[in-house]
Amino acid sequence: MTYFCLHNYILAINNSENILNSPIEYLKGVGPQRGELLRKELEISTYEDLLYHYPFRYFDRTRITKIAEINMTTEYVQLAGKVVNIAEEGEGRKRRLTATLYDDTGRLQLVWFQSLTWAKKFLEEYGQYVVFGKVNFFGGEVSISHPEIEPLSQATALGGMQPVYSTTNKLNARGITNRSFAKLTQALFEKIKPSDIVEILPVEILQQYRLMNRYHSLRQIHFPEKEEYAAQARFRLKWEEFFLLQLQIANLRLQHTVQPGYVFDKVGNYFNRFYKECLPFELTNAQKRVLREIRTDTAIGKQMNRLVQGDVGSGKTIVATMSMLLALDNGFQACMMAPTEILARQHYQGIKELLDPLQIPVAILTGTVKGKERKAILEGLASGAIPIVVGTHALIEDSVVFKNLGLAAIDEQHKFGVGQRARLWAKNTKAPHVLVMTATPIPRTLAMTLYGDLDISVIDELPPGRQVIKTIHRSDHHRAKVMDFLKNEIGKGRQVYIVYPLIDESEKLDYESLLAGYEQVKSWFPEHKYKIAMVHGRQEAGERSRNMARFVSGEADILVATTVIEVGVNVPNASVMLIESAERFGLSQLHQLRGRVGRGADQSYCILLTGSNISNDSYERMKIMASTSDGFIIAEKDLEMRGAGDIYGTQQSGVLKFKIADLVKDAAILEQCRTAAQELIAVNPTLQGAQYYNLRAALSAKGDKSQWNKIS
Ligand code: ADP
Ligand code: MG
Repeated sequence: MTYFCLHNYILAINNSENILNSPIEYLKGVGPQRGELLRKELEISTYEDLLYHYPFRYFDRTRITKIAEINMTTEYVQLAGKVVNIAEEGEGRKRRLTATLYDDTGRLQLVWFQSLTWAKKFLEEYGQYVVFGKVNFFGGEVSISHPEIEPLSQATALGGMQPVYSTTNKLNARGITNRSFAKLTQALFEKIKPSDIVEILPVEILQQYRLMNRYHSLRQIHFPEKEEYAAQARFRLKWEEFFLLQLQIANLRLQHTVQPGYVFDKVGNYFNRFYKECLPFELTNAQKRVLREIRTDTAIGKQMNRLVQGDVGSGKTIVATMSMLLALDNGFQACMMAPTEILARQHYQGIKELLDPLQIPVAILTGTVKGKERKAILEGLASGAIPIVVGTHALIEDSVVFKNLGLAAIDEQHKFGVGQRARLWAKNTKAPHVLVMTATPIPRTLAMTLYGDLDISVIDELPPGRQVIKTIHRSDHHRAKVMDFLKNEIGKGRQVYIVYPLIDESEKLDYESLLAGYEQVKSWFPEHKYKIAMVHGRQEAGERSRNMARFVSGEADILVATTVIEVGVNVPNASVMLIESAERFGLSQLHQLRGRVGRGADQSYCILLTGSNISNDSYERMKIMASTSDGFIIAEKDLEMRGAGDIYGTQQSGVLKFKIADLVKDAAILEQCRTAAQELIAVNPTLQGAQYYNLRAALSAKGDKSQWNKIS
């Protein structure tokens, strides 16, 4: 098994001796209680973590604004002037201290609701002050509450950019505010020397890409002298973040390419006969191209790791099936793994039918296959009597042993944890070729990161004769019309899906909303006239398959479902997809669902039913769905609107968690880093040499924390 071999990199620095690894409570102004809070709330447990808690914006305190310049768009300002009319007003909870600040252009109010005693003592009538704060506009009156204020004679803050940090409600409540972070970080910089922050990027890279050095970047990002420096610091730190990741990926790729693999040098009887006798249609050019790529990959004695991306309905299954035949032609077994029981069964049926004329035994192995049947299958796999097996996660259980697994096709990859790919590989002494198929088009930047270690094939062409699915957004008001439309379609012999969202994280609510929906559907579609099937996550697998089968066979007109039908299910006669509360779904998910229809010859429809009062974001999503059926455009938009971690569920693995870099906004930097990393790894795969010493150490440290070393 090829884990990313971090032991290739020497663990260079004995980190415990570096002051940056000191526990955060040792820092002046923190202490045990605040330390505990920082740890819990923001995962800041060392000096270094605090250093990496970057500000997300700055207040410009490099200039003094004139009071007359303030207008409705002004947020934070720094003013200088004289304070007069210091007065206490109000009673009890409304008690406050007010004062007037004026300069040569105008005047405004300063207000304190707290610390009145302090303010009263501090302020002097006719004193000159520098004031900083957020401007309020109440009833035509301009004011600043709780300004930061200093006598003009000792104004230290003048001339800098003041960092603004994110904090949490809990921290705020305990007095750790945005300002506290600035103070703590200031204290930290007083405690450390420039040499404590070692440069980890090699000199040639710093020069080539004009990067600010590490110490200065960290200093400038917290306390920039000018906007320009802050920008350079941000650039450098983003660069570093992407670069380390891309180095790891480049290394992983390299490992794969040197990883010996089985040689499929024959295109034999199975493949050729299938092509001539069994294939029910002409392959698209895209399918042919991808098959050629797979054939080349598997013939050269290296282990294949290929991701096949193809929009829903682009025909990935047939490509995988033919790849499996290639394995058989060369004397190996092959398997296909799907994320759900329903999908596995559907693939099993489909593949069995396709291969029937060739008389190839195909088995299915899922969690519900038990007892004697299971035993027989396990024996068949171990002896080699069963050459092809389709299944779920059950395929990667320890009890499943293959005689000689040559190729593993994994469908709808994103439903699998990244670690699971690895387990399948471990089944043989040599790792089998791995073909990952995903219907979620992945934006390029994300693919470079998430699947950077894989080669990527794209099926960018749909089989001929597919019609564009008409997508329509309707609000609840039009429900009656929508239902009439459904009846009309059913009258023509078509079938329809009605999908309900996951209302909550809670499965229970999900289920209840589905049941309520089911009752409603029954009221529109009386049972004596319409046949309705329902599938959901709470059903026992057997019952679910039976209900699903009723729909697949055409017995049921309507399938009421939760998102369990999201991936892969193929019912060509179904021509309408009605999505209830569509505003609750993300773009990619809507696209996946829509892909369930439009699989036959008939005009298909996707109806997005939403409340009448939806957010701008939701409205935007509906608009995008109605305007395009291109999965790649939708994926890009989804990434823009939601961010990467959310979409691909990889947040828990930490793979897509960046401190400062952003996969969408910083795509250009990512490209740069990828090139730089590949160039470096190509000439110096193990980063030998003194100039890479710190870089190696940083990679090791990162490897310990992140999941990267477990991905392959
Ligand atoms: P997906 O890429 O979403 O997994 P499938 O493999 O399920 O798509 O294919 C969708 C449908 O298109 C299936 O019914 C399949 O038989 C059919 N199909 C695949 N390739 C072609 C082709 N080249 N010409 C016509 N139909 C095809
Ligand atoms: Mg599929």
